Amino acid sequence: MDYKNIPKVELHIHLDGSVRPKTIAELANISLEEAISLSVAPAKCHDLNDYLTRFALPISIMNSKENLERIAYELAQDLKNDNVIYAEIRFAPMQHVSADLSDDDIITSILKGLHKVNIKTNLILCMLRNHIDVVNYQVIDLAKKYLGKGVCAIDLAGDEAIYPTKKFAKLFEYAKIQHVPFTIHAGEADGVDSINAAINFGAYRIGHGINCILDEKTMNLIKDKNISLEICPTSNIQTNSVTNINKHPIYEFYKKGIKISINTDNRTVSNVTLTSEYELLSKTFGFTVQDFYQINSSALKASFASSETKALLLGRLENR
Ligand SMILES: [Zn+2]
Repeated sequence: MDYKNIPKVELHIHLDGSVRPKTIAELANISLEEAISLSVAPAKCHDLNDYLTRFALPISIMNSKENLERIAYELAQDLKNDNVIYAEIRFAPMQHVSADLSDDDIITSILKGLHKVNIKTNLILCMLRNHIDVVNYQVIDLAKKYLGKGVCAIDLAGDEAIYPTKKFAKLFEYAKIQHVPFTIHAGEADGVDSINAAINFGAYRIGHGINCILDEKTMNLIKDKNISLEICPTSNIQTNSVTNINKHPIYEFYKKGIKISINTDNRTVSNVTLTSEYELLSKTFGFTVQDFYQINSSALKASFASSETKALLLGRLENR
C-alpha cells in the first residue's frame, strides 16, 4: 500500500517542532548529529515537559525574517512531498518577537515562505500556558488582525499538567467576543477536567483530547457536540500520554463515531511524516484507504478553512 499517495489533511502541526534538522544545524552553526540529538525526542520521554525541551534550539534560530521565511518554505515543501493538500500550521508568535523582529514581521515572513509552494495552508497562533495574560491577549488581537489573511484561529499550548486549562477562561471569552475561532490542547498531559474546561469554553476542536477515553460521559459529550479531536499518535507515545501504540484510543474513537484528524504534531521532534503515521495506524489497527478518506473528509469539514476552500479540497480528496 502506498500511503504517500493518499491526499491528506493536517490540522495539528507545530512549525517550531518541524524545522528540518539540516536547517537547524546550518542556522545554529552546529553539526547535523548535534542538531538531531538536541531537537529529536526519544521514543519515550519522561513526560510532556521533557518532550517540550526539544523546542529550545529550533526556537532560538527562528529569530529573523529570512530564517522564518526559509523554515516556513521548507515545511510547505515537506507537506507537499507528504501529499498534504491542506494544513493548519501553528506556532507561538510571541516567542520570536525581539527588538529587530515585530509580530507583523513574523506573520508576514512565515506567510511569504508558505506561499512560495502551491499548497493550501493557514496559520493557528498559539497562546502559551506559561505566558502572562497580557501577552496572550496580544496573540488574540494579532490573530484578529490577520484573520482570513493567512491566519485562521488561535490555540493554547504548553504544559497543561502545570497550568490547568480552566485558568484560561477569560482569554477564550475575549476570543469569542473578537470572533476568533480556537482549538485548545487539552487531555494530553492532564485528564478529563481539562477537556471539559475546553468544551465549556466553546471549543469544537481539541488538540489530542485522548484522555477522554477515561470517562464515558466526556466521550459521549464530544460525540454529541460533534467536536473533532486532533490526534497525534507517535507524539502521544513519546510524551507518555499513552504507553504504546497498541494502547492508543484512536481506533476506539473512530469506531464510536467520534470525529478525528490524524496529525504529526511535530515532524522533527517526533521524527515522523503523515505517511509514516498512516503506515503505523494501518499496521496496528487495520485502518484502510477508505478509513483514511473518511478521516480526511471529516478533518477538512472540522478545519478553519473557508467554505470555498473546503468545497474545492473535498473534491480533491474524492478524486484520489
Ligand atoms: Zn501540539
